[in-house]
Amino acid sequence: MLTSRSSQSQSALLHLECTACGVHVDAAELHGVCPRCGKVLFARYALDRLRAALPRDALRGRPPSLWRYFEALPVRDPAHVVTLGEGFTPLLSLPRLAQAFDVRAVYVKDEGLNPTGTFKARGMAVAVSRARELGVRTLVAPSAGNAGAALAAYGARAGLDVHVILPEDTPPGIVAETRAYGVGVQLIRGLIDDAGRLARQLQAEHPGWFDVSTLREPYRVEGKKTLGYELAEQLDWSLPDLIVYPTGGGTGLVGMWKAFAELEALGWVGPARPRMVVVQAEGCAPIVRAFRDGRPTAERWTDASTIAAGLRVPAAIGDYLILKAVRESGGTALAVSDAEILAAMLRFAASGIFASPEGAATLAALPHLRDAGMLDPQSRVVLFNTGSGLKYPEAVGAALALERTVRA
Ligand SMILES: *Cc1c(COP(=O)(O)O)cnc(C)c1O
Ligand SMILES: [Zn+2]
Repeated sequence: MLTSRSSQSQSALLHLECTACGVHVDAAELHGVCPRCGKVLFARYALDRLRAALPRDALRGRPPSLWRYFEALPVRDPAHVVTLGEGFTPLLSLPRLAQAFDVRAVYVKDEGLNPTGTFKARGMAVAVSRARELGVRTLVAPSAGNAGAALAAYGARAGLDVHVILPEDTPPGIVAETRAYGVGVQLIRGLIDDAGRLARQLQAEHPGWFDVSTLREPYRVEGKKTLGYELAEQLDWSLPDLIVYPTGGGTGLVGMWKAFAELEALGWVGPARPRMVVVQAEGCAPIVRAFRDGRPTAERWTDASTIAAGLRVPAAIGDYLILKAVRESGGTALAVSDAEILAAMLRFAASGIFASPEGAATLAALPHLRDAGMLDPQSRVVLFNTGSGLKYPEAVGAALALERTVRA
C-alpha cells in the first residue's frame, strides 16, 4: 500500500525489551506484556545503524503520513502496512493565546484531522499492521470509545475480525461509528479497566484472538511515538519547551518520551527535552494524585467520572512510565474541572480549533501552569488536541449551555 516509498526502506526493529525487568523477547513472535514480569514491552531498533544510513534530510519528499518514519517503525514488509492516511497532522501556531499567556509561542498539534477523528488512529494503524504481519486474524480491545472506533476502522481496512468492548455510557456517536465498521461491539456496565478484564478473558477463551489493549501489546505506542517525530520535524528539528498532554492511559506521552531518546540516538535532535505536563480531569486523576504524593505508581481511581471520555481511565498499566517521564523531564501533573474543559472548548473554537473535551483540557491547564510559574516569555508550548470536537456533540451542547448561564 506504500506506493511512493523506495524499496530500500527497511525496519531497524531488533527485539522487544521489558521496561521493568529488562528481559529481551523475540519480536518475530506475538507478545502482549512481558512474559516474565507482566509489565510493558518496548520495541528496540538498531539506531546506530540507522543513524549512519538515514540522515534526517532523507525524509524530504516522503508521503505526509506517519509511515515516513518507516525505518523506526516495527512493520518489516511494507506490503503489510494498513493505512488510512494517519499522521502528519498540522502543528498550528495560536498567536492570540501566546499573547494572552505571555509566552513565545503556543501551538496546537491538531490530531482531530486523523482518520476516525482522533490520534487513536496512529496507534491502531501500526498495531493492526504489525498484528497482520504476525498472522493475527482476530483482534479484541477494550476502549473508552475512540480506540475502539480506530481499531474497527483499521480492522475493516485490513479485512480482519474485530471485537470492541465499551462502557455502556460511551458517547453514542462513537458507539454508532464503531458499529458502522461492521465489527462486534459489546457494551458493559463498568469502565475501561473492566472492559480490559473481559478482553483478556476473551483472548484466553478463543485461540487466535489477540488483545490490543494499549501498552499491553508493544506496537500501539510505536504508532503514537510518531507524535514526537513529527513535532521535531515540524519545528525544524528542535523540540518545544513544554508539552501539555491529556492523559488517560498515557500512551502518547510515553511514546513521545521514547521518541525523543530515539531521535537523539539518530542524531536528529540534541539532548534538550521538553517538560512533559500531564493533564487529567478532576473526576479521574490517578496520575496527578500519584505525582503529588511522590509515588512511582498510581492507585486505581474509584468512581471515575468526566465529560472527557478518553480521560476516564482509572488505572493504567503504564503508570510507572508516565510518572518517570514527567519527573525526568521536570514537568508536572495537574487536574482541571469539567467546567474548565467546557469553557476551553469554546476558547479553542474562538481560534478556529474545534477541540474534543480531552484536547480542550490542555488549554484549560494553561492558567494553572502560569500560576505555578511554569510559563515564561521564552516558552514554546505545544497543546495536544487529541480528537475532533465533531465526535462530541453532547459536550459541545453542554459547553454552549454553560456559556449561556455564565453570561445570564
Ligand atoms: C484515548 C484518548 C486520550 C488519552 O490518550 P492516552 O495516550 O491513552 O493517554 C486523549 N484524548 C482522546 C481524544 C483520546 O481518545
Ligand atoms: Zn519484565
